[in-house]
Amino acid sequence: MGARKGIDYIQRLKEHPPETWIGKEKVTDPTAHPLIRPAVEATARLYDVQWAEEHASYMLHRSPDTGGLVGTSFLVPRSKEDLYKRRLQSLIWAQQTFGLMGRSPDFLNAMLTAWYINRDFFGPYAENVKKYYEYVRDNDLFLTHVLIDPQVDRSKPPSEQPDEYTYLGVVRETDGGIIVRGAKMLATSGPYADEVLVWPFHLRKPTEKDYKYAISFAVPLDTPGLRLIAREPYTRSSTLDHPLAARFDELDAVAVFDDVFVPWERVFIYQDVERVNTIWKVNSNAFTGHQTSIRLLVKLQFLAGLLMKGTEMVQTNQFPHVQDMIGEVTTYIELVRAAIIASEATAEPNADGIYMPNVVPLYAVRNSGNRWYPRVIEIMHLVFAGGLMYQPSSFDVFDSPIADDIRKYYRGATVSAEEKIRLFKLAQDLAISDFGSRHVLYERFYAGDPMFLRIQTQYSAYDKREALALVERALALYREEEAAKAEKPEAKEMKI
Ligand SMILES: Cc1cc2nc3c(=O)[nH]c(=O)nc-3n(C[C@H](O)[C@H](O)[C@H](O)COP(=O)(O)OP(=O)(O)OC[C@H]3O[C@@H](n4cnc5c(N)ncnc54)[C@H](O)[C@@H]3O)c2cc1C
Repeated sequence: MGARKGIDYIQRLKEHPPETWIGKEKVTDPTAHPLIRPAVEATARLYDVQWAEEHASYMLHRSPDTGGLVGTSFLVPRSKEDLYKRRLQSLIWAQQTFGLMGRSPDFLNAMLTAWYINRDFFGPYAENVKKYYEYVRDNDLFLTHVLIDPQVDRSKPPSEQPDEYTYLGVVRETDGGIIVRGAKMLATSGPYADEVLVWPFHLRKPTEKDYKYAISFAVPLDTPGLRLIAREPYTRSSTLDHPLAARFDELDAVAVFDDVFVPWERVFIYQDVERVNTIWKVNSNAFTGHQTSIRLLVKLQFLAGLLMKGTEMVQTNQFPHVQDMIGEVTTYIELVRAAIIASEATAEPNADGIYMPNVVPLYAVRNSGNRWYPRVIEIMHLVFAGGLMYQPSSFDVFDSPIADDIRKYYRGATVSAEEKIRLFKLAQDLAISDFGSRHVLYERFYAGDPMFLRIQTQYSAYDKREALALVERALALYREEEAAKAEKPEAKEMKI
């Protein structure tokens, strides 16, 4: 099959719908469901864009196995130019959604590509990882993933939860595979994806007692026994009044595995606590961090643009503290951009000649973006203030007896009411809606708990040598001075 177009993605989803529950409603066709269809359409556009002529030189490449064209998010980089191609691919896709669909297919494609490159980590299951990567790449499948356990009792390990299968674990083996039971969260975009990739991530490290929960595998989302329980959708029907929420709500869901059969060829880690606890060795963050930083860059640029244009409309952009706050956002943009470039420029080939982006600057973005994004939304509140509240409830007001009021009192300094309301409806969707709140939560947590993430990557595992060498150099100054004094006692006396 190779790289898909939007129509191929929609057709497959129609034929293989995940079992999704929205409240008591069972969704039978996500491609036609009013609350999911907009995200399906936004995703389909990504698949179309990868075929656009103007992007032809970097969106697709030849599969080394089939010779067919496949997406660049599966590209195994053999040079810095390849890393740059990966960047352009993620950039073009992120721009289609203004950075608002964090789990667009390239996110897990990036993760799976890293798993493939470092598949030896998976020991006896390395061949399964290889075949799965090739299958996903050559069929251009859309994956969601679930790592986290349901929030039931965080004070206890998996084996001590109220029910043996609260957390996802192995029930039994069969000749053909394993049967798993339990729940996982949070399958963002699961209700309109093709497959789910599962591996456990716990803040509290599992011990040997938790072996049955130490598993990783992938299955199609329409596998019998697998159901998704969606959160309340934030999709709105009016693209005029909710231009972003009406188009880009990537639905999150809890995945319930009710005795789901996983064939052996889809098992990647099996009852192996040691591998689960050291999965960071696969270094998938180098690829996912590259993709997420590029997406964040686009999202920050979009927010900065809204701030620039909105404040110009009402002329608050002439006040220094407003300029300063917008300048804070553009500072974040440039730091993210610099980190992306640094990750490519300082990438080193591994023994097989494969270039992974340097993860260190990407970790710095990840550990900052989760704090910057909430701050940027705060800046939106501070800068737009009541402007976020004073837009009319609906655009149909222009068709009403009070239309003249709106034209007069809702205009900007130099723009019409209609133009200004359009801009502020975009800002409202991000700054004060349920859709916008979810984005704040997403940026804070999508990569894990912000505090533990920073401790782990910026402190515990951080290469402290350069910082400590400087301190050693400064401490040496004392010793040098003492040695000099000891050598020249008369000089010391003269000074006194
Ligand atoms: C919008 C959104 C989308 C997401 N999408 C995905 C996805 O696609 N796939 C996926 O797998 N996950 C996804 N996640 C889940 C995300 O990875 C988790 O939210 C994140 O790892 C934090 O885990 P938690 O939500 O279970 O919080 P918890 O771990 O329950 O933390 C809650 C609080 O308790 C504290 N705490 C918890 N355990 C401990 C402990 N042992 N020691 C000390 N303090 C502790 C934490 O610091 C935190 O303050 C998503 C989350 C959000 C919000």
